[in-house]
Amino acid sequence: MEQEQNNTPKGDKNIKPKLPPKGPKFNMSWIYGGFLIAMIGVWFIGGGFMTEGREISFQKFEQELYAKGLVEKLHVENKHIVQVSLFKDSLELPKNAVLLKKVKQNVKGGQFSFSIGDIEQFKSDMAKAVEKYPTVKQAEITYDNNKGGFLNNLMSMLLPLLLLVGIWVLLMRKMGGGAGGAGGAGGLFNIGKSKATLFEKGTKVNVTFNDVAGLDEAKVEVMEVVDFLKHPKKYTALGGKIPKGSLLVGPPGTGKTLLAKAMAGEAQVPFFSLSGSDFVEMFVGVGASRVRDLFKQAREKAPCIIFIDEIDAIGRARGKNQMMSNDERENTLNQLLVEMDGFSGDSGIIVLAATNRPDVLDTALLRPGRFDRQITIGIPDLKGREDIFKVHLGNKKVSKDLNTHKLAAQTPGFAGADIANICNEAALIAARNGKSEIDLQDFNDAIDRVIGGIEKKSKIILPEEKKVIAYHEAGHAVSGWFLEHAHPLVKVTIVPRGEAALGYAQYLPKEKYLTLKEELEDDLCMTLGGRAVEELVFGKISTGALSDLQQVTKMAYAMVSVYGMNDKVGNVSFYDPQNENGFQKPYSEKTGQMIDDEVRKLIEVAYERVKALLSDKKEAVKIIAEQLLEKEVLYKDDLIRLIGERPYDLPAVTPDLIAETTNELEDNNKEAE
Ligand code: ADP
Ligand code: ZN
Repeated sequence: MEQEQNNTPKGDKNIKPKLPPKGPKFNMSWIYGGFLIAMIGVWFIGGGFMTEGREISFQKFEQELYAKGLVEKLHVENKHIVQVSLFKDSLELPKNAVLLKKVKQNVKGGQFSFSIGDIEQFKSDMAKAVEKYPTVKQAEITYDNNKGGFLNNLMSMLLPLLLLVGIWVLLMRKMGGGAGGAGGAGGLFNIGKSKATLFEKGTKVNVTFNDVAGLDEAKVEVMEVVDFLKHPKKYTALGGKIPKGSLLVGPPGTGKTLLAKAMAGEAQVPFFSLSGSDFVEMFVGVGASRVRDLFKQAREKAPCIIFIDEIDAIGRARGKNQMMSNDERENTLNQLLVEMDGFSGDSGIIVLAATNRPDVLDTALLRPGRFDRQITIGIPDLKGREDIFKVHLGNKKVSKDLNTHKLAAQTPGFAGADIANICNEAALIAARNGKSEIDLQDFNDAIDRVIGGIEKKSKIILPEEKKVIAYHEAGHAVSGWFLEHAHPLVKVTIVPRGEAALGYAQYLPKEKYLTLKEELEDDLCMTLGGRAVEELVFGKISTGALSDLQQVTKMAYAMVSVYGMNDKVGNVSFYDPQNENGFQKPYSEKTGQMIDDEVRKLIEVAYERVKALLSDKKEAVKIIAEQLLEKEVLYKDDLIRLIGERPYDLPAVTPDLIAETTNELEDNNKEAE
C-alpha cells in the first residue's frame, strides 16, 4: 500500500526535489523558421512564378476543356504559362461538377493552367485543336510577356538565394547554439563569439556575500580573491601570485554560481558566465574560437571574473571512457588551457569553474597555474539551512511566530536551491489561500510538495486501508524509536504524497560519514517494521511493503558483498560502481550462493528481531497508529508525549570513531515508510 522513498545514510540519495530544469533557452531558430515561412508565404501570394489555377497537361486541356467548349480565354504569361479561364455559366452546370470539383470559381488569372515549352509550338497546337473541333467557339488568346513586372521578376531571382541564406543562418544558429546578438543577420557574424553574459561593473551584479548563506569556509577562501580584485597592486607589489583559477566543487543547487556572482559583486568587477555545455554543442572550431573570444572580452574588461559552469562538459579527461574521442571538445579544452596559460596572474582575470565531478576532469586542467585550487561546497547542514531560509525569507511576509530552526530541522539533505524553491512555493500557497502572511502550515505544505509532488488529499483510500497504512507507519516509527542505532524520527504521516507514497516516516540521520554495522542492522529492522506490524496486528501482509523490501534487499546485499560485514563471506568487497566487470561476476558460483544465503539469513534475523521488539511494544504501536488515524501527521514532540522519551536520545554515548568524524558534519536525511 505504500511505497517508500528512503534515503541512505550516506546521503547519496538525499531528497532531491526536482529543480526547475535549467531553462531551455528560447530557441532563436524558431524565429528564423517563422521568418522563412513568412517569406515563402509572401512569395506565393505575390504570385511570383506560381500559377493560380489547377495545373493540367495540354492534352487534358484540349480534350476535357477546349473540346467541350468550356474555354473562354487563354492568357499566355511570359511565353511559359497559359492561364485558362472558363465560361462563368459553364462552371455552374451540374454535368461539369465532377470535372470542376476542385476548381475555385473566382481564381485570379484562370481556373486551370498549363505550361508550354515553346510559344510557337503552342500556337501550332492551338491551330490544330481549332481544326479538330471546328464547332467549338474559339478562345480568345492574350499575351503578357512581363507578368509580375520588374519587382516580381527580381523576387523570383532573389528568393532562392534568400532561402539559401536563410537556411544557412538557421543551420549556423543551431550549431552555434544561438550565438551573439539576437538580431537577424547579427547572428551571422557572431558565430564563434562567446555568448558569455556580461554584467557590467557594479550596476548589474548586485549580489553580495550577504545573499549567500552558510558556506562560511568557502567564503573565507574566496575573500582573498575578492581582495585581490579590489586591490591588485597590494599583492603584485610584493610579488605574490594569486591563483588564476579555482574550482568550485559541489552538488547542483548548492550555490556555486551564486558564490561566484557574489565575488564579482563584492569586488565590483564585471562577471562573465557561461556553461561548459554551451561549448560542446557546437560546430567544429567554434568552441575554441568562443573560448578565445571570451578571454579577449575578459582582457578588455579586466579586472573581472569568468565563471564556467559545468566545466566537466569540456574538461573531461581526454580519450578516457569513450568509444570515440571528441575532437571538438578536445580543441575547446586545449584552447582553454592555452588561454589560461596565456595571461599572467596579475592581469586581473580570475577564472572560476563549477563541477560536481572533479574526479572526471582532465588532470591538465588541475595543474598549477590553471584550476589549482578547489573550494568544496557541500549540501548545507542544519545551521546552514536555517541561514538559507532566513536569506530567502528576508523579503517575504512571514508570520512572526515562524520558527526557521524548525523548518531547517525538517529539511535535511536539501540544497540551497531546494530551500529557495520551498520559500517561493510557500508564498504561492499562502497567496492562493488568501492569507496576508506565510505561516508554518504553508511551509509544511511547500516542503511536502517539493519532496514529492503535491499532497493528494483527494486520493481515495478506503478506511480499512487507511488503518493498515497507519499501523504500518506506526511500525516503522515505534521500531525506530526503540532501536538503539536507528535514526531519530522527524515526522511520520499517513498523508499520501505524490503518486507513490501513501505515507512515510522521515528520519534525521546522525550527521556523520561512517556507518557502523549495528546501525545498518537496526536500519534493516526499522525498515522491516512496517511489514512486521502488519503480520502481528492483522495476521496478513500487504503489498504496501514493496519498497521497504527493495530497500532491505539492497542494504543487505551491500552489507554482505560491499562492506565486508559478514563473517562467512569475509572482508571482501565486490563494489563495482563503474561496472568494470560488465556482466561477469567477480566471484565464483559458490561465493555467489553464499552471498545469497547470508543475505537471506541477515534479513530473516532482522525480521524476527523487529517482530519480537514490536510484539513487546504492541501498546505503543496501537497508540501511535490510532493517533495517526486521527491527526495524520505526528512529529517527534508528539511521539515523546504519546510514548515517552526515546531511550537512546539522551546525550550520545558514541564510540571514538564517531566522535572523530562528527566534527565535519554533514547533514543527511533518512526517510522510511
Ligand atoms: P549551483 O550553481 O551550485 O548549481 P546556484 O548558485 O545556481 O547553484 O543556486 C541556485 C539558487 O539556489 C540560487 O540562485 C539561490 O537562490 C539558491 N541558493 C543556493 N545556495 C544558496 C545559499 N548558500 N544561500 C542562499 N541561496 C542559495
Ligand atoms: Zn513501509
